[in-house]
Amino acid sequence: MRRRLGDQLGTVSAEELMMATAIDRVCGMEVETNDAPYTAEHEGTTYYFCGKGCLLDFREDPEKFLAPDYKPGMHHG
Ligand SMILES: [Zn+2]
Repeated sequence: MRRRLGDQLGTVSAEELMMATAIDRVCGMEVETNDAPYTAEHEGTTYYFCGKGCLLDFREDPEKFLAPDYKPGMHHG
């Protein structure tokens, strides 16, 4: 059995790429965080969004979407 270090590193970085997702707080969609064009920072935390609409909604009223009783996806579009 022969293992090359390069192959192992390649596997690790591929897994990291696959795991780089976040939940869109506005509509509940899973969003890739790599290269994400729609992000907003609120109180030191970065949030990711599926599109401009969700991003603008969040920036308008972040507290609304971060509230525990807010249910994502209730009024998308
Ligand atoms: Zn969204």
